Amino acid sequence: MIKTNFHTHTTFCDGRDTPEQMVESAIEKGFSALGFSGHAYFVLDAAFTMDLAQQKPYRAEILRLKEKYKNEIDIFLGIEQDSWSPALDYKYDYVIASVHNVQKDGVYCPVDNTLEIMKSNLDRYFGGDMDAFAEAYFEETVRLFDKIPEGDIIGHIDLVTKYDEQLSYRRTPRYFRMAKQAIAQLAKYGRPFEINTGAMGRGYRSAPYPDPELLRAIRREGCPIVINSDCHNKDYLDCGFAQAVALARDCGFDSHMVLTKQGWESRPLP
Ligand SMILES: [Zn+2]
Ligand SMILES: [Zn+2]
Repeated sequence: MIKTNFHTHTTFCDGRDTPEQMVESAIEKGFSALGFSGHAYFVLDAAFTMDLAQQKPYRAEILRLKEKYKNEIDIFLGIEQDSWSPALDYKYDYVIASVHNVQKDGVYCPVDNTLEIMKSNLDRYFGGDMDAFAEAYFEETVRLFDKIPEGDIIGHIDLVTKYDEQLSYRRTPRYFRMAKQAIAQLAKYGRPFEINTGAMGRGYRSAPYPDPELLRAIRREGCPIVINSDCHNKDYLDCGFAQAVALARDCGFDSHMVLTKQGWESRPLP
């Protein structure tokens, strides 16, 4: 099975466990590599993100663990940069580029905050129209590399579907057209899209992001994938990986990308 994860949150942002607890769990699970990706600061989500002052001790702690556990596991210092975060002021081992908020009428609307907040913004700013919300989301998403040129991974490309199961919502043909257009635009950058099982571990979804139809579009564009658990809890570091691999294979992939000390490398799927 997959024994790496490059999307890991800790007590430095909105995770439950400390970085060292995450490392110990990864070693116990036989992982060969673990990448940390604390949420970069964003004003609206201050409770969930690291402010600029916190990013320094975060880096120091991950670098300490990298050294301490170097004979047992490869540890990487990354960050999950939101499209609205201030520009990065440090060269991380890698950067996940993600959209967590859209702007409408000058107001930030979170995509993946609570279901109540999502629903209230959907009604107030988009007249209850999920496609209109998704349109704003993908308009922001296609700008990812203008705003985050250092981005190495495209994070959870269809995060906007987080609450579809709770809302018993089925995506429309218009939605899939918009999503595929965004994928085609982002594909030009040649960077991997993420298969992300985080919402499974947290009980919001029964399947990983992205939807199989979108994953097939990513495959047709010739883009690679990274399989990540977007982990906020050390017990779920490899949550949903078997399902993610089966999904990837179903959609035509036979390899995935992993970060090594030599850089990003393609590996056969297990
Ligand atoms: Zn995210
Ligand atoms: Zn994340």
